[in-house]
Amino acid sequence: MVTYAASARQEGAELFVRPPEEGTREADRRSVVLRLRPERLLAAPQLLESLRHELLHIADMLDPCFAYEPWLPSADAGPAHRELLKSRYRVLWDASIDGRLSRLGWAPAGVRVERLAEFRRAFPMLGEGVEEAFERFFGAPTLRHAELVAFAVDPEGMADRSSGGRLPGGSCPLCRFSTHAFEPEPHRLPSAVRERIRSDFPEWDPATGLCRQCADLYRARSAPTLPRGSPAGTRSPWSGGLSRAG
Ligand SMILES: [Zn+2]
Ligand SMILES: [Zn+2]
Repeated sequence: MVTYAASARQEGAELFVRPPEEGTREADRRSVVLRLRPERLLAAPQLLESLRHELLHIADMLDPCFAYEPWLPSADAGPAHRELLKSRYRVLWDASIDGRLSRLGWAPAGVRVERLAEFRRAFPMLGEGVEEAFERFFGAPTLRHAELVAFAVDPEGMADRSSGGRLPGGSCPLCRFSTHAFEPEPHRLPSAVRERIRSDFPEWDPATGLCRQCADLYRARSAPTLPRGSPAGTRSPWSGGLSRAG
């Protein structure tokens, strides 16, 4: 659906997902709304460039490997912190999108310079390492939502790991297998699970991430033995710690 935008700020593509309903086909649940100012139609080449950019956002959101989630980690630090995370996330995502487009020859000239300048403004704490960190997003063939989030939350920690850590879409730091299925929110793992991981990998930190299989493995390992007949995967009785299990 294409609709009218009154200002440049209102322009863009947005994905709407309806909740599952009986009688609604899976494909009909999703719709894309594109907002444009009418005068954009007068400059076809520029319009094409921004449509490609906007629609690649949508394509990422629909890509199971990207594993998009419509929320960011709920920061206890308040709305300002949330806004900061959101704008950092946007900068990272835009860098990754324009990097892919420019390798296809579909982005305007000078886009790298522009995105790098934006990246510098968003991550002043990276100092001299800023361009190397930028390249991890601009130069990446694929990225995942969780990687963008992890970097937005802890840019310095993630940049430090760039040399020895995992590459985007790369391998799990625990099992070393390459994977696209990273645990989406490793910092939310129960503390017993994180401790269990650290007992095997003292250097590990939630920001480094891990694959889902490893996360499941450590969840299982850190669980006290369940009474016979308990449904596997029940979390609530012991998610707060091991003390009650005796
Ligand atoms: Zn964008
Ligand atoms: Zn793993």
